[in-house]
Amino acid sequence: MQQWDVIVVGAGAAGLFCAIEAAKRGRKTLVLDNGKRIGRKILMSGGGRCNFTNIYASPANYLSQNRHFCKSALSRYTQWDFIALVQQYGIAYHEKTLGQLFCDDSAKDIVEMLQQECDKAGVQIALQQEITAVSYQDGQYQVVTPQLSRQCQSLVIASGGLSLPNLGATAFGYQLAEQFGLKVLPLRAGLVPLTWQPADKAVFEEISGVSLPVTAEANEVLFPEDMLFTHRGLSGPAILQISNYWQPGDALTINLLAGQDLTALLTELQQQHPAQELKTALARVLPKRLVEKLLELKLFQNQPLKALNPKSIERLVDSLQHYIFKPNGTEGYRTAEVTLGGVDTDELSSKTMETKKQPGLYFIGEVVDVTGWLGGYNFQWAWSSGWVAGQYC
Ligand SMILES: Cc1cc2nc3c(=O)[nH]c(=O)nc-3n(C[C@H](O)[C@H](O)[C@H](O)COP(=O)(O)OP(=O)(O)OC[C@H]3O[C@@H](n4cnc5c(N)ncnc54)[C@H](O)[C@@H]3O)c2cc1C
Repeated sequence: MQQWDVIVVGAGAAGLFCAIEAAKRGRKTLVLDNGKRIGRKILMSGGGRCNFTNIYASPANYLSQNRHFCKSALSRYTQWDFIALVQQYGIAYHEKTLGQLFCDDSAKDIVEMLQQECDKAGVQIALQQEITAVSYQDGQYQVVTPQLSRQCQSLVIASGGLSLPNLGATAFGYQLAEQFGLKVLPLRAGLVPLTWQPADKAVFEEISGVSLPVTAEANEVLFPEDMLFTHRGLSGPAILQISNYWQPGDALTINLLAGQDLTALLTELQQQHPAQELKTALARVLPKRLVEKLLELKLFQNQPLKALNPKSIERLVDSLQHYIFKPNGTEGYRTAEVTLGGVDTDELSSKTMETKKQPGLYFIGEVVDVTGWLGGYNFQWAWSSGWVAGQYC
């Protein structure tokens, strides 16, 4: 039986970061992962450039049944701490938009940085490990794989969520929580494209590829970003963001005129070009293929601008600002970036991430019921929760 101080399950962002901190404290630390390499999600994140944090990250950017839980970790290991580490390794990065920081070159830079930090601190990593059983006896955890039995004082679960099953995602962390009598809150796919109802699909799939700035609203939450029409439904950052707040059966209200003053434009054009057709005028503020679709759907009647009156302009603006889509569902874990829900934060100490009922058992990263917005917030949660657990495990 191999003896360790700390075993971390999951060589993703949270697990590696926790292991580095634990090993720096002199803890004999092993990371187990079922994959062939470390940091697989990091490598494919942010289109291969890893949106590793967000300069505006704050507790307000996270969803959780207990919205206060993430405050402690986020304030003790902040985005500025992670940025300092990235700078220390000379990794070039840039802000793409809305505070989102991406590597200039490749997400590999972040994984190599984590590998070097592991090497420096003396973290051991064992890959392609299938854990078949975990048990607890006399203050020690036994972690069994077909090859070996290992024992440790602290067991840290950083096995992530259910998204991208082909990339090694498993329900391991949730099942282990249940094995130890911990509550797991309902899981669902987050940061995920939404799919059409059959009737909408027939209409809108023809304009797949069309993208425009909108504000997307569901359950009184609103995101101003781009929206993309796809063959299957709606995607783009505005939709991924709102998908976290959308529940089956809900309608989405889309403002197709985000930031545009169509009333002023039409009133001005009426003076300058009274014979111009309304659809031509609308194509100044909306993609032409969308305007044609809206005409086909009889959202407006095509007529010369001079035929419009203030009331009809007001009606048109209102319908474009409150366009209702009723999605059928989501694309699910196949394309979701994250899993909402997870190990109930009531079971954990926000200071250490240790479970209250089971000494020496920790949960960090995405497996916990803390989910960030799109934009680097999920990695920041992984770094912060991993870092704090690493100080205690
Ligand atoms: C396509 C995509 C792009 C993304 N882009 C970004 C982005 O740019 N910025 C951002 O902030 N977030 C992004 N995310 C979300 C982010 O990747 C996750 O929130 C983050 O990786 C969670 O870190 P984690 O360490 O908790 O889990 P993970 O990174 O998922 O790591 C969990 C590890 O545990 C291993 N594992 C699972 N089950 C077992 C088991 N039974 N035994 C052993 N090992 C196991 C897995 O193989 C994996 O290596 C993206 C997600 C996806 C899917």
